[in-house]
Amino acid sequence: MGDDVIAALTAALGADSVRTGAAIAARNQADSSGLAPVLPRAVILPRSTDQVAVALRLCLAAGQPVVPQGGMTGLAGGAHPGPAEIALSLERMVGVEEVDAVGGTLTALAGTPLETVQTAAEAAGFLLGVDLGARGSCTVGGVVATNAGGNQVLRYGMTRANLRGLEVVLADGRVIRTPGKMLKNNTGYDWTQLFIGSEGTLGIVTRATFLLHPRPAQRDSALVRVADTAAALDLLRDLGARLPAGLLVYEAMWQEFYEIAIGPMGRSGPFPPGPGLCLLIEAPGYGDGAEVGLTEALAANLDRGVISDAVIARSEADRLGFWALRESVYEHNRHFPPTIGFDISIPLDAMAAAVDQLRARITARFPGQPWVVFGHLADCNLHVNLMATPDHRKAIEDTVYGVVADFAGSVSAEHGIGRLKAPYLALTRSPAEIQLMAGIKALLDPRGILSPGRVLPPPAGG
Ligand SMILES: Cc1cc2nc3c(=O)[nH]c(=O)nc-3n(C[C@H](O)[C@H](O)[C@H](O)COP(=O)(O)OP(=O)(O)OC[C@H]3O[C@@H](n4cnc5c(N)ncnc54)[C@H](O)[C@@H]3O)c2cc1C
Repeated sequence: MGDDVIAALTAALGADSVRTGAAIAARNQADSSGLAPVLPRAVILPRSTDQVAVALRLCLAAGQPVVPQGGMTGLAGGAHPGPAEIALSLERMVGVEEVDAVGGTLTALAGTPLETVQTAAEAAGFLLGVDLGARGSCTVGGVVATNAGGNQVLRYGMTRANLRGLEVVLADGRVIRTPGKMLKNNTGYDWTQLFIGSEGTLGIVTRATFLLHPRPAQRDSALVRVADTAAALDLLRDLGARLPAGLLVYEAMWQEFYEIAIGPMGRSGPFPPGPGLCLLIEAPGYGDGAEVGLTEALAANLDRGVISDAVIARSEADRLGFWALRESVYEHNRHFPPTIGFDISIPLDAMAAAVDQLRARITARFPGQPWVVFGHLADCNLHVNLMATPDHRKAIEDTVYGVVADFAGSVSAEHGIGRLKAPYLALTRSPAEIQLMAGIKALLDPRGILSPGRVLPPPAGG
């Protein structure tokens, strides 16, 4: 059966679009979740939506499981292939097809790197609302499929708030094009929103139309020190009230993070190590300089005693230095292998207590193991990274997800469920919701060929 479908795919797509065995590149064998590389049965590299449709029809006829792959930066194991699966890589479907400056939209193919889309938007005088650390490698299809969040959610929302329309190939090869450029189109069920965040389980995204935002004339950036989580939330509320254009970025780095960043990671930070949090804050400026700026708003909070120290970026180099501190965490696994990462949500009113509980439970259960907590605080999103051996994985998951359960949080804020969190979905979604998800999956993919084992929990006893 496997050989037949590979022969049929080769005949339909051409020999240079089907790779097997040693011809499969390392990039198609593992995503960024830390799972060990796996050689899929084959990798196919379609060049067009039509080729994706033909390939899916052949795979469906053969009952052949397929996993879509984008930039392979996903952290939940969604694009990580299984040995019996065919990986469908969108890497040849690259390009920004249109920037509509009148309607403020941009349409790109699924394999286009996010950074390419950002650059095209900027060249036309706009800003793309979606931004994340993996921008150079992650792709439009992956960002849509995971409903990626990132650094500017506070102002522009997650990917689902930044999309107007999609082109999606269904498991049976049908192509649907959801409403593209119009802000209003109130004509029944919203397919665009259904496919966003479906992690390859409902269809293959081949094109996306983003809405674009006005580009701020300037971007003010600061590093700030506060005493504790409650002070960080007080500051967030106060800045929201003082700054007419709001905030772009509100990144929190708790004490453990800051100490590792300026210690083993070798970053420079303006504050000495010690208790409290370091915040990376950015605000946009659009106007004539008459409005209250970030500097004035922070000065007012120094006077209020909410901030103990603050440094304002005087240049783009300063700003990038602030981000180097925050993004030092991407090297965590190199310094403390293996690192297990979490991406949880906690309601803001429970955040201070939840961080205290994380600290207490992790240090009691895994004494001496380096760990950090950081994240997109204003979005309720905490990332927890912990060095541990794989045999500790379950104990660590139980510890962190125990805090999530106790504070009615979510097991995934932005990275998605993928393979790694499928067994924990029921901590955040009710049985009725999971049943509905399974029903939608069965309707769109009745033979279950698209990304099996991702998102939905494995059947009981299975
Ligand atoms: C350094 C770093 C920083 C990161 N920062 C953030 C962050 O701030 N916020 C955040 O949300 N995430 C972050 N991530 C996670 C990751 O970058 C995002 O999940 C990203 O959206 C994945 O895009 P990708 O193209 O690499 O997708 P992949 O890893 O290739 O795939 C991810 C999922 O999408 C599916 N998929 C891919 N392409 C398609 C398609 N065309 N159609 C249907 N399904 C598809 C895959 O099957 C898989 O389930 C970070 C990752 C790294 C490594």
